[in-house]
Amino acid sequence: MTECLLNIEGLHTGYDGVAVVRDLTMHVNAGEVVALLGPNGAGKTTTLMTISGMGEVISGSVEVLGNPVPKLRQAHRVARWGVSHVPENRGILFQLTVRDNLQLAKTKGKVDLDRAIEFFPALGGLLNRRAGLLSGGEQQMLALGRAIVAEPRLLLVDEMSLGLAPVIYEELMPVVRRIADETNAGVLLVEQHVELALEVADRGYVLNHGDLAMEGAASELLANRALLDASYLGVESLES
Ligand code: ATP
Repeated sequence: MTECLLNIEGLHTGYDGVAVVRDLTMHVNAGEVVALLGPNGAGKTTTLMTISGMGEVISGSVEVLGNPVPKLRQAHRVARWGVSHVPENRGILFQLTVRDNLQLAKTKGKVDLDRAIEFFPALGGLLNRRAGLLSGGEQQMLALGRAIVAEPRLLLVDEMSLGLAPVIYEELMPVVRRIADETNAGVLLVEQHVELALEVADRGYVLNHGDLAMEGAASELLANRALLDASYLGVESLES
């Protein structure tokens, strides 16, 4: 039976009690890549932050591996349930080496560096380099490598392609698919590059101004590009 790792129902989330995402219902199953799409300011990052216990559940519910995410920030608890979050700014420690960054990524037990190197062979030759000296692409590999060594059940990735050349993010995106396929983790991917994200995703949700504008199988969303574009523009009726 498919295991549901993330179940969100009727979620209102935002800042200081003011919702910027309203009535969101979505889920992510084990082994799935799910894209969370939408224009700037739609509420994608806010949603990811709330899932990983860094935001506010104003109303509705967020369940991660069967555990209700607390209403107010408790990220350490959510991380222990098996959630890794690769934030937009990548969340790496620039003064430390690649090895140290990887070693600090796991809260319990020994880190298996080979796990990260298996997905990103280039990291193998960079273990003693300070993270601040890495290129943008290498930093993103490290950010994903940190998530991989933490052995998450649910992986949240925010704007992986940000600031990277197309040739770099086009190589990184399929690795996200591999992580889901080979570790059976569920992946929730926030991405501006809609087509690229939908090429590796199983399903997608589109947010617009905090409302769910569209959802469906990645292949359907890709096949219906006009409707997808309309959902970005906030066109009222997407059913016709
Ligand atoms: P982007 O791709 O630009 O990051 P996004 O879809 O991730 O867009 P969010 O960053 O989640 O959007 O922002 C959603 C809304 O919440 C925006 O209107 C934004 O201005 C607002 N917002 C974001 N962070 C805060 C904050 N710390 N306090 C108050 N409002 C915020």
